[in-house]
Amino acid sequence: MSGGSETLAASASSARMARQATRDTAPEMALRRALFMAGFRYRVDYQLPGIPRRRADIVFPKQRVAVFVDGCFWHRCPDHATFPKTNAEWWRAKLARNWERDRETDQLLIANGWRVVRVWEHESLADALEAVRHSLEEPREEPGRGVVGRPHEQRPVEQSVS
Ligand SMILES: [Zn+2]
Repeated sequence: MSGGSETLAASASSARMARQATRDTAPEMALRRALFMAGFRYRVDYQLPGIPRRRADIVFPKQRVAVFVDGCFWHRCPDHATFPKTNAEWWRAKLARNWERDRETDQLLIANGWRVVRVWEHESLADALEAVRHSLEEPREEPGRGVVGRPHEQRPVEQSVS
């Protein structure tokens, strides 16, 4: 198996600005393929039980593990977040709402006994695969440790939009 240095976003950048891709993005497909080849079976773009109108990219319903492959732009990665200059105010509000929604989804899932795995599209496939594997295989008896994955804690610069 190769792929250790391949980033999830390797082929995903071109269409990024065209639309907000919420499913079947290239990074997500790469992780799905790797998981499948590793023998894992999962649901895709799955409606999260008990949380109306919230979905996760890759879901293991029985194990109650929800995986999100977050795009650096749409989810405001601490390393790669950018802000369009055109309609700047609208974009700031939009991206701040995305961020708040992500955190709310995390909290709701954790409150319902789920594990949340968030990986950035810039992460290596190997790291993403490892994060998911760890969440699936960690004993359930352990108390929830919150969100697994790289930090999403950084607050958006502009938080005042409501
Ligand atoms: Zn990033």
